[in-house]
Amino acid sequence: MKYTSEYRDESLVKVTLGEIRDAITQPWVIMEICGGQTHSIVRNGLDQLLPPEIELVHGPGCPVCVTSLELIDKALAIASQPNVIFTSYGDMLRVPGSGQDLFSVRATGGDVRVVYSPLDALKIAQDNPEKEIVFFAIGFETTAPANAMSVLQARNLGLENFSVLVSHVRVPPAMRAILGSPDNRVQGFLAAGHVCAVMGYWEYNPIAEEFQVPIVVTGFEPLDIARGIAMTVKYLEAGKALADNAYKRAVTYDGNKPAQEIIERTFMECDRKWRGIGMIPASGWCLRQEFDAYNAELRFDVGDIQSEESPVCIAGLILQGLKKPVDCPAFGNPCVPENPLGATMVSAEGACAAYYRYGRG
Ligand code: SF4
Repeated sequence: MKYTSEYRDESLVKVTLGEIRDAITQPWVIMEICGGQTHSIVRNGLDQLLPPEIELVHGPGCPVCVTSLELIDKALAIASQPNVIFTSYGDMLRVPGSGQDLFSVRATGGDVRVVYSPLDALKIAQDNPEKEIVFFAIGFETTAPANAMSVLQARNLGLENFSVLVSHVRVPPAMRAILGSPDNRVQGFLAAGHVCAVMGYWEYNPIAEEFQVPIVVTGFEPLDIARGIAMTVKYLEAGKALADNAYKRAVTYDGNKPAQEIIERTFMECDRKWRGIGMIPASGWCLRQEFDAYNAELRFDVGDIQSEESPVCIAGLILQGLKKPVDCPAFGNPCVPENPLGATMVSAEGACAAYYRYGRG
């Protein structure tokens, strides 16, 4: 497949790994931001093929993993109401809240449906005017344009039975929080290619400069990741702190301006709690006030639910690059994908699920 198979070429990956080996002179800790990159790294064994001087740590770029427990509990409270059809991406159904998950709500009679796009949820709203349709709008910058568009379209269509439970998070404030922590170990970042396809990478230069780290926009195939690491190592070894792009076939410096305008029209920055990590200022997007009618938190009056994280799960430390999944005493027993104690074991992008699935530890 064009633009995919050539980036899985083993011989090209080996050449790039050789370049990394030739360039490296000392240990470096590099964080891949995105959970999709984590899975690609572990699935393809890149972590085991890199020179021992490079330690890859796994970042918070897994939307299912970082959606706060409170938001999950709010979703459960809304989905349990009798006149509601609750729609969500499939991954979210197994994420444990304080007491249960969306699958359990469905098993006890709740109408919880998996959709592949917020536009599917809009269609359900059009087909069921007597019901309240709620879409669980989670994700990073990547999913924000489509979620914003669904709200604009609901307003254009005059749909009064559609609302969104918003849990949008943004990468740059999370990077700042990680780099600004006194415990930080991260010396360079692989930025998430799909996020940058929407947002560009103009936001990353000030971060690189302030914290003196290189940030390299990186794709998801083995060769993309090897090249992202090679570029990051080159800058680390040269003592250069800047943002650069190793994913030029998909990402430009400015990103997708029309998509950014749709986000800007619909959402505004707000503080957001990240599961396991805590509150990060200005790290989320919330609906603008003019869209209050489409805000499920207001419509269903679930704004004040507070929840406590499980003391067993160390996902928050993993997502900040301070621990690895195998450091968790619950990894593999009792925490497994069929019985997840934390979101990083549930999600297709979760670091714990990647380690378990591909036999690390
Ligand atoms: S193995 Fe399970 S309990 Fe441990 S950090 Fe991962 S998700 Fe949490």
